[in-house]
Amino acid sequence: MATTTTLKVNNVGQTFTTNTGQRVEALRNVTLDIPPGQIMTLVGPSGCGKSTLLKIIAGFFPPSHGTVSVLDSPAASPRRTGSNADLGSGSQFHREPKATMSPTEHIITEPGPDRGVVFQQPTLFPWLSVRDNVQLASEFAKDTELHDAQRNKATQLLDLVGLSNAAERYPHELSGGMQQRAQIARVLASMPKTVLMDEPFSALDPFTREQLQAELLRIWHQDQPTIIFVTHSVEEAILLGHRVIVMAANPGRILADVHAEHIAIEHLDDRESITATGKAATSRGYPAHQQSSAASFPQPFEPEAPLNGN
Ligand code: ADP
Ligand code: MG
Repeated sequence: MATTTTLKVNNVGQTFTTNTGQRVEALRNVTLDIPPGQIMTLVGPSGCGKSTLLKIIAGFFPPSHGTVSVLDSPAASPRRTGSNADLGSGSQFHREPKATMSPTEHIITEPGPDRGVVFQQPTLFPWLSVRDNVQLASEFAKDTELHDAQRNKATQLLDLVGLSNAAERYPHELSGGMQQRAQIARVLASMPKTVLMDEPFSALDPFTREQLQAELLRIWHQDQPTIIFVTHSVEEAILLGHRVIVMAANPGRILADVHAEHIAIEHLDDRESITATGKAATSRGYPAHQQSSAASFPQPFEPEAPLNGN
């Protein structure tokens, strides 16, 4: 039976102790419900805990406090618009037999195939062609049906990200933008319910970055996975996110939870007005579409230092 997945970040805190014995409170009291199909962007200055939160959701290590869990519910309807209008589960109104209704919740303790991670630097296998990299997940598929589905998805994705003609090349024969496209295709070809992206476009030139932002939204429309996208660019956060989480450092925490209007693909050509809206709102001290009047919006962020271990 089809299920939808909600990620629940429940009062997560993370304290690190550095080599010199200094304690760093990377995250404090972070609580979030991330409904299926939402593109949630995390934006904030360097060191505010964005990567730490993403790694905890990926299951790379457990948080010092709190939990992250996956809540699987029977799919009440195929409607997955990505809008924020249907964020409530409403599952108590669903008219299926009771036995099939109970949602199951499990705490994330390790990485899993339901969560794909895209890093800032492409992580392709250098000895595999682009096609083999993108088809890799299907090699590990447990049954023929999944294998075939992932193979088909890989072929489709190569086309969607414009790499069909470069499919037989090796990673070192690709530009940075092409490598990042291949990495995104590889992660999506495993058909994860959630895609975690840590500043995936920040190492690219502005032109390529804009292309990949538009491509990401086009690809999202196909299967509408949940996407958690880390960026330090306010413009990118507003452009891509259905919802923008603004974070601050020392301790790493949530400052604002902003539901942004969904920006339709056809409006992507009108980037200037989108950017202008975001910038105008930022300079007034509040972002466009902000629903929480109590939270303030930080001023534009400094780019992250290149050696902060992302
Ligand atoms: P961001 O991704 O927002 O730049 P990070 O999540 O990478 O921030 O880091 C948040 C804070 O936690 C920073 O002060 C960073 O130095 C610290 N930190 C991250 N990982 C570790 C670690 N493994 N050991 C010690 N401190 C860490
Ligand atoms: Mg980071």
